[in-house]
Amino acid sequence: MFDKILIANRGEIACRVAATCRRLGIKTVAVYSDADAQAKHVAVCDEAVHIGGAAARDSYLRVDAVIDAARRTGAQAIHPGYGFLSENEAFAAACASAGLVFIGPPVEAIRAMGSKSAAKSLMEHANVPLVPGYHGAEQAPEFLQAQADEIGYPVLLKASAGGGGKGMRVVESAADFKAALASCQREAQSSFGDDRVLLEKYLTRPRHIEIQVFADMHGNCLYLFERDCSVQRRHQKVLEEAPAPGMTEQRRRAMGEAAVAAAQAVGYVGAGTVEFIANQDGSFYFMEMNTRLQVEHPVTEMITGLDLVEWQLRVAAGAPLPLRQEELRLHGHALEARVYAENPDNNFLPSTGTLKYLRTPAAVAFERGAHGSDPAPVRIDAGVREGDTISPFYDPMIAKLIVWGRDRAEALARMRQALAKYRVAGVATNIAFLDRLVASEPFATADLDTGLIERHHDALFPAAQPVPAAALALAAAALLEREQIRQRKQYLDSTDPHSPWHQHNGWRLNGHYERTLQFDQDDTRHDVVLAYLGDHSTLAVAGRTLPFAYRHEQGALQLTLGDTRTQGHVHVDGATYHVFYEGRHWTLQWHDPLAQQAGHEGGEGKLTAPMPGKVIAVLAEKGGKVTKGMPLIVMEAMKMEHTISAPADGEIDEVLYGVGEQVQEGAQLLSLKAAE
Ligand code: ADP
Repeated sequence: MFDKILIANRGEIACRVAATCRRLGIKTVAVYSDADAQAKHVAVCDEAVHIGGAAARDSYLRVDAVIDAARRTGAQAIHPGYGFLSENEAFAAACASAGLVFIGPPVEAIRAMGSKSAAKSLMEHANVPLVPGYHGAEQAPEFLQAQADEIGYPVLLKASAGGGGKGMRVVESAADFKAALASCQREAQSSFGDDRVLLEKYLTRPRHIEIQVFADMHGNCLYLFERDCSVQRRHQKVLEEAPAPGMTEQRRRAMGEAAVAAAQAVGYVGAGTVEFIANQDGSFYFMEMNTRLQVEHPVTEMITGLDLVEWQLRVAAGAPLPLRQEELRLHGHALEARVYAENPDNNFLPSTGTLKYLRTPAAVAFERGAHGSDPAPVRIDAGVREGDTISPFYDPMIAKLIVWGRDRAEALARMRQALAKYRVAGVATNIAFLDRLVASEPFATADLDTGLIERHHDALFPAAQPVPAAALALAAAALLEREQIRQRKQYLDSTDPHSPWHQHNGWRLNGHYERTLQFDQDDTRHDVVLAYLGDHSTLAVAGRTLPFAYRHEQGALQLTLGDTRTQGHVHVDGATYHVFYEGRHWTLQWHDPLAQQAGHEGGEGKLTAPMPGKVIAVLAEKGGKVTKGMPLIVMEAMKMEHTISAPADGEIDEVLYGVGEQVQEGAQLLSLKAAE
């Protein structure tokens, strides 16, 4: 086995690979770009090497820099993860020339599967079923049109060198063919530098079912069952599951054996995935083979109790596969949802920014379950932490949320629970969309096909809903709670502890008191009228007045509103109230009357961290006199120093952080009593 490997990737997959290495006692070397100096994958590896600029082509795609980093650190092998250099045959070859083990298939296998057309020719000879179509060398438009006419419309045009759905065009009729061909060729040329195309019969309502295969250097090859990845948007997977609903033992074997035949036809070694497109009647056809670990491999790990990265490492080190086909057991049902920083209502546009607040359901990071026993019900593979940034340079994935249940219904219920507990502020996310998707009729009843999202568009993308009264009440409760904490502090600090003015129980001179809080949701203003009536309070919103009470318990705000009791969470970021209620996230802006009046911070200096980072020097002490502009604290963030200075003359009230402590963006670092 290896002593040290380099992980030529970033984000969740780099962390995932590192987790297995740690368990096996293998040292890890991370590589990172300018944008990733503080990234989680750098923190979880034993060593890290800076390899260039933020753009992937300046760092993670640089073959020379990655090989050089491995050489310099004495790594014996390179795990490429997925994406980036993972299916780049030149990289695999460069590893071999440098005397490094590429943890992946042989160069020839990558090459053979790299071109969709060439792969199809090979599969044809290996008797793997293919979608009716044309994948030959002749590319004259008239010839291709004649082929399409013969296949029968609709047909699908694909870039031979393709991937990621790029270049794909559905052609509905002969009249549309020429224009679609030209557009497919253009995109193929610009994305892959190769304008060759292939034609396939376009299947209506197909399912995407893929088989995980594994082969070693000793001639063994087996399949680790299937994954159903039919739920896609724009040909990108959104939900994945294993096993595939409705799969029979007989078909599983037929698909598994076809996948093994496909792998053996190219002399495959390591982990690979053979993707099939399947008709509703179960007939299936080879689409392509991905010669790497897939994003969705955790669902296979969940149902088999195996660690696929461990298998990759063992196989790459020359060991035989640890199990035989007949020893593999499929246990329970697993679902994976890709949690993304994106805006589903705006065509899934990526959302960038700082993860100011991140709370997840109780979960394990990757852990190997025992083969055949129940794994942990929830697993989260994440490459980012609270305070990290989703940058425009890379895939905006926040995490993969994977759940396991004894059957599909249990897995589905656990997924809904887990999604409801996933709370993110700072970027837009697809969490609410994922929940609607998981709960939707077609998904819940496993009526799956690749057009599910499109076909159920109206139900999955409902019109914006008005904020519920309970969410407004939670925001009001959070606001009151903050005020009370502040008042209590003042009370404790005050010289006259018995002064009624310092009480924090809503006491007022006349016993009755009314107050209006205003929250804006986009362009809509909501008035929330609170009334303290001596022994109880009411809250009026949207024309209804209801008894109101709250308390903080078990990390949540417990709310009584009228005769209902519910709970939720509120993250307060300045005047922005992020309310998490019933699996939804509402962003409300509090209209602070005092802030409006004052228009500025006033004399009470609030000194907050401008970005997440580490305190490297504290220059002030409690009780110390300071003058405006005096440096008080020095922070380091993004490899740069930031000095926090006194906004006014005064006295240091409190220093809240010490040297070496990590602080979140917006955290108060110290407080200052301004001079009169
Ligand atoms: P890429 O490599 O670009 O991702 P694939 O060949 O893997 O392209 O296909 C991606 C997706 O496109 C599939 O998962 C499926 O949803 C759809 N698709 C591919 N081929 C067909 C086909 N012949 N008929 C219908 N849908 C297809």
